[in-house]
Amino acid sequence: MNKRAIRIPFVDLNLQHQPIQTQLEQAIQAVLKQGDFILGEALSNFEAAFAAASGTEYGVGVASGTDAIALGLEACNIGTGDEVILPTNTFIATLIGVLRVGAKPILVDCDPQTALIDLEAAAKVVTPRTKAIIPVHLYGQMVSPRQLLDFADTYKLLIFEDAAQAHLAERDGYRAGSVGIAAAFSFYPSKNLGAFGDGGMVVTRDPDIAQKMVRLRNYGTSQKYFHVEAGTNSRLDTLQAAVLLEKLPYLPKWNSDRLSIAQQYDLELLPSASAGIIPMQNQSDAGHVYHLYVIKVDESCPLTRQQIQDKLTAEGIQTGIHYPIPCHLQPAFTNLGYQLGDFPQAEKLAKQILSLPMYPGLSNSQIQEVVAAIASILSSEQQQLLCI
Ligand SMILES: *Cc1c(COP(=O)(O)O)cnc(C)c1O
Repeated sequence: MNKRAIRIPFVDLNLQHQPIQTQLEQAIQAVLKQGDFILGEALSNFEAAFAAASGTEYGVGVASGTDAIALGLEACNIGTGDEVILPTNTFIATLIGVLRVGAKPILVDCDPQTALIDLEAAAKVVTPRTKAIIPVHLYGQMVSPRQLLDFADTYKLLIFEDAAQAHLAERDGYRAGSVGIAAAFSFYPSKNLGAFGDGGMVVTRDPDIAQKMVRLRNYGTSQKYFHVEAGTNSRLDTLQAAVLLEKLPYLPKWNSDRLSIAQQYDLELLPSASAGIIPMQNQSDAGHVYHLYVIKVDESCPLTRQQIQDKLTAEGIQTGIHYPIPCHLQPAFTNLGYQLGDFPQAEKLAKQILSLPMYPGLSNSQIQEVVAAIASILSSEQQQLLCI
């Protein structure tokens, strides 16, 4: 493949950081001066600010989003003997979190319009052992809170949100993280709110869960050298918290930039719909925070997803696939007993989805360039077909 220089990257974090670089450096300097690197002041300030921004009460910072899921589930007393429902088309960390607490993951298929968990399919796998459901607010769109709460109420289940892609997303009047008993966020650098390294947080309205989280991330410590649980070492660094606290006020603007970019993509891609290029559906209006902008290259397209991705790469346009292999088909998890064919929608999507460049600062002309490149790939293919 002809790999030209990248003209439009998939993400560009510099555009976010350069305008506030001085501010970020000062925040880091302040921590260096204060020296409270572990469980310091900036951490508690950021925990309070992020929990409030997410419409909840307590935030407990941890080392990653993966730890936020595993420790968060443990803090909610979900573990051995419990079944936990989650979508198969998620980032692998959702599944790993469930396995880490010793619970049994029960995978389900998704809605092909949105790629969000199919709650009707979820209803069919509920058993007396089902304790919780993990809705993944995939690509920045929340699983409908109204439907989720209804579902959880019907089957008497806990809701633990994987909000790693949905900082400040909204739907049905709820913020991501405020629907369930607790929720996990990730601050991986390219997430909507990203640190300068790894980071995560559990948010909750329940003071007991918050207290248990505070212990679990710190060796199960209730008072110094007194351990009431077999916890671990998973704290969000004060330095990372200081960076995140500085970035948090810009998040609403960055999210609304993402929404405008998505709206422009939607509009400009309309003419390509007849050629099988279909954007994932936004069912939450302005509440979608577009961590990713994902299109489907469906069966009516004369080209495959792979062909389109390769041609875009050759044009210097970087894209991604989130995710190319659903959890149930990953080699590490064959022991769960699932097979090819078990989740047809997720399996089909995995072959059709393509994530286009999406980040605050992506310009109108860059969006037009991406869309024009797709259109020209399609039209040259159609011309070739006509010549045969
Ligand atoms: C990023 C992500 C995670 C894991 O977060 P890390 O901070 O990378 O451990 C979990 N779930 C989803 C849906 C994610 O996108």
